[in-house]
Amino acid sequence: MSSTIRSENALIDIGVNLTHRSFEKTLISIVNRAKNANVSKLVITGISELDSIKGINICKDLSKNFPNMIYTTCGIHPHHAKEYNSESFNNLKEIASDKSVVAIGEIGLDFNRNISTPKEQEIAFENQLQLATELGLPVFLHERDAHKRQLEILSTHRAQLKNVVIHCFTGTKAALFNYLDLDLYIGITGWICDERRGGELKNNVGNIPINRLMVETDAPYLLPNIIKKTSKNRINEPAFLPLVVEEIAKHRPESIIEISKKTTSNSTQFFNLI
Ligand SMILES: [Zn+2]
Repeated sequence: MSSTIRSENALIDIGVNLTHRSFEKTLISIVNRAKNANVSKLVITGISELDSIKGINICKDLSKNFPNMIYTTCGIHPHHAKEYNSESFNNLKEIASDKSVVAIGEIGLDFNRNISTPKEQEIAFENQLQLATELGLPVFLHERDAHKRQLEILSTHRAQLKNVVIHCFTGTKAALFNYLDLDLYIGITGWICDERRGGELKNNVGNIPINRLMVETDAPYLLPNIIKKTSKNRINEPAFLPLVVEEIAKHRPESIIEISKKTTSNSTQFFNLI
């Protein structure tokens, strides 16, 4: 990895959890390392009202050192859906009015652990889809073990929504085509670098139209396997995003540079990044 910025193939990390406590004391160096690894823009993932405010504050704090580089989403993750109450819609609307907020998310359904009940998740999800419609903002989606229901809810709202991305996609080929039929963008993480668990994704990634593909680290989670093997580092960070693109390129006809350029232009347009 070169340490100089090469603008023609700079990357955008559309999903990084910079509000996570593991980044608390290291934010500046994390963003510097991202920049040196040719990751030119980052979109922080918001997971609750408070967390979305934290994301905005990080954008503000870092804007002096890193102008036009860091943005955030605003939303309530399905795990936090139980926090969604009668004031949430207006609270989120107020939070989303900040100029650093570029999407509503991450929102959706996660029936894997049901940290919030399915009913609570559906209420929070539908209300936030309405919020995105009202604000004309794109949507950053999360889904785990809930494809059928997520698709049903999404289908009823899709016509009113602008752009929608399903982040950290790891589903089946059928699920992928269902999302593509709804004209969704697909976010791919370092999950694809995992020999065992990334197998299906390696086979599926070639089916994503290049104009619907975006990349993300989901840092500090999902450390690519190759880093696990070669260093003691156990925390993922945006500087490792090029590894995701390198792996994707092994399973697609385009070169690394072409994938970099295209995912960057997709993300720039999707989030309307200036
Ligand atoms: Zn997620």
